[in-house]
Amino acid sequence: LNGYVGFANLPKQWHRKSIRRGFSLNLMVVGGRGLGKSTLINTLFNKELYPVETFNKPEFPNPEDPTPVTVETVSADIEENNVKLSLTVIDCPGFGEGINNTDSWKPIVDEINNRFDMYLEAETKINRATVVDNRVHACLYFIEPTGHSLKPLDITFMKQVHEKVNLIPVIAKSDTLTEKEIQEFKQRIMDDIMNQGIKLFTPPEYDNDDEETKVASREIMAKAPFAIVGSTNQIQTPDGRIVRGRSYPWGIIEIDNEDHCDFIKLRQLLIRNFMEELKETTANVLYENYRTSKLKKLGI
Ligand code: GDP
Ligand code: MG
Repeated sequence: LNGYVGFANLPKQWHRKSIRRGFSLNLMVVGGRGLGKSTLINTLFNKELYPVETFNKPEFPNPEDPTPVTVETVSADIEENNVKLSLTVIDCPGFGEGINNTDSWKPIVDEINNRFDMYLEAETKINRATVVDNRVHACLYFIEPTGHSLKPLDITFMKQVHEKVNLIPVIAKSDTLTEKEIQEFKQRIMDDIMNQGIKLFTPPEYDNDDEETKVASREIMAKAPFAIVGSTNQIQTPDGRIVRGRSYPWGIIEIDNEDHCDFIKLRQLLIRNFMEELKETTANVLYENYRTSKLKKLGI
């Protein structure tokens, strides 16, 4: 079952309609170059959406040549047990690479707003049945594995988007930190997030949820910010299993092993447990707020 994505096997009754029609998800990834964004996407969906490349990060950004932040979109249909997932990944290369990153969140916020505006415009037209949902349903924010705490740019970015998207912070390349470093880093990150009043995605709890659902929910959310490792390489463990992982002189980090990293929990959040909730929160809370304040500004 290595790399099994899992959207075809959702447990809840009310997913039946979605299973027939297929699922769709628009996922944004933000974070510095080389933090493993493309690799994580390939690992999550078990498909090479991004060519596997190796590049060297320029050691000193050139002030004469500031890298603009661009928005690049990749779409793919993924099929599992005859169930389709239409996936769109919105990547924002160039983020955080300049000498002066003061405004590097701007093109990203513009992208989120534009997608809301497109939806609003389509919704206002007469035939609403055909509205395509291009809104951003979740934003994975990649935190550099420094082991210290959040950087000013991390905080600025998160504050700019937290009321517009379901924000999900992850600790990139967590295999470069020890277990103890990860625990302490997580704590400091969560303290910063609390102190700054940054809102993260939290799944709604319903009174009629069964205990099992509630426990699963809490177990997933307790891992935030998710310490992740990405890799699509299949390697053999000393005890002869074939796993997706990264190999080191001291051993192997297994992606799909919950004792090794939080990849599984992140995938459960995004795909197995809360894909519908991410979309509902986007539609009913984030987009609604955007729409209301936009209409107010326009005097409608
Ligand atoms: P992006 O620029 O954020 O899209 O980063 P990439 O996914 O292209 O990865 C950049 C480099 O980091 C590649 O050489 C990857 O093999 C490596 N990489 C990706 N994920 C991980 C990880 O979880 N741990 C480690 N140690 N390296 C990783
Ligand atoms: Mg990339």
